[in-house]
Amino acid sequence: MKAARLHSYGGPLVIEEVPTPEPGEGQVVVKVEGAGFCHSDLHIIDGEVQLLPAMPVILGHENAGVVAQAGRGVTEVKEGDNVAVYGGWGCGYCKACISGDEHLCVQPRWVGMLGYDGGYAEYLLVPNERYLVKLDRVATREAAVLTDAAVTPYRAIKKALPFLSPDRHVLVIGAGGVGQFGIKLLKLLCASPIIAVEIDDAKLKAAGSCGADEALDGRSPDVAAKILELSGGGVTVTLDFVGNDQTLALALGMAATGGKVVQVGLAGGSACLQVMRNSRFEVQFEASFWGNLTELREVIALAESGRLTPVQLDYYPLEQINDVYRLMKEGSIPGRAVITPAG
Ligand code: NAD
Ligand code: ZN
Ligand code: ZN
Repeated sequence: MKAARLHSYGGPLVIEEVPTPEPGEGQVVVKVEGAGFCHSDLHIIDGEVQLLPAMPVILGHENAGVVAQAGRGVTEVKEGDNVAVYGGWGCGYCKACISGDEHLCVQPRWVGMLGYDGGYAEYLLVPNERYLVKLDRVATREAAVLTDAAVTPYRAIKKALPFLSPDRHVLVIGAGGVGQFGIKLLKLLCASPIIAVEIDDAKLKAAGSCGADEALDGRSPDVAAKILELSGGGVTVTLDFVGNDQTLALALGMAATGGKVVQVGLAGGSACLQVMRNSRFEVQFEASFWGNLTELREVIALAESGRLTPVQLDYYPLEQINDVYRLMKEGSIPGRAVITPAG
């Protein structure tokens, strides 16, 4: 089969022929009809996040497609079923795994990163059928991004819900693929007024179309003052979908007493929480990570019901994956780019 593999940090991804996977007992091979290109892939390719245990590796952790082959003993899915692939694979035995947060496993085996190849290939080996969520109405190429770009903000927002109320503002920093889903999900899950901060004109517009009440230019020197003015002195929840020193400082600086700052972005910044600063007390900081299978099922239910609509999706054949890498690095992907290896 055709696959795009990373041979060394720095890239590029090499399009080449590799053996097509065969399902063992309990395993499933999925024909990949959509594989969302995440900014985390960019961090990995560029070597900013060096977690790959071995190379070459087929990246791609936001996958959906059609069941091509089900191994012996598979009972819940059959050939031809449309499925989204949960990607936070774990050992199945540790405390995180048995409590349901398998993506937080002590020995993670995340698809397209840690030991298993991902979806930038015609076929994907899924080690257990329980990782597949059947799709009824949502097309596979639209569903791929739900497995990360949507479930990640969904988990972060669900955990922040006790802090959110109609009279308290929520701040979203960064409205790329994940941030735009974050804004859409905030609209569905709570009634807090939403302030978005972006540094790109097109994304500022996108933040507004996704439902942000205010979209502020992060390049402006007055952005912090404006947020404090709009929120009456501080926001109760900030979701940082960038995660560099500058955005984390803004996030923590804007927190109201009793507020919560959630870091989702992985841009390598450090959070410096000065407890007595601005006379705002008991601010919580959390790094929220990906999502679990239950959360993915809930997100897919939202999409199947039509309440969660996709961000702008642009489709690219596998051969153009290095162009997608370049466009994302330039900041020119309007929403999410989805690779379509199966055509
Ligand atoms: P993206 O490239 O689509 O979006 C990033 C956005 O941030 C862009 O629109 C960019 O203009 C904006 N931005 C950059 N600097 C900014 C600043 N200083 N202020 C305001 N906006 C700024 O990326 P994405 O796929 O949406 O991912 C966002 C981040 O989340 C990445 O770091 C990615 O690795 C991370 N991520 C984390 C998880 C997790 O589980 N924690 C899951 C998925 C993605
Ligand atoms: Zn991702
Ligand atoms: Zn485990």
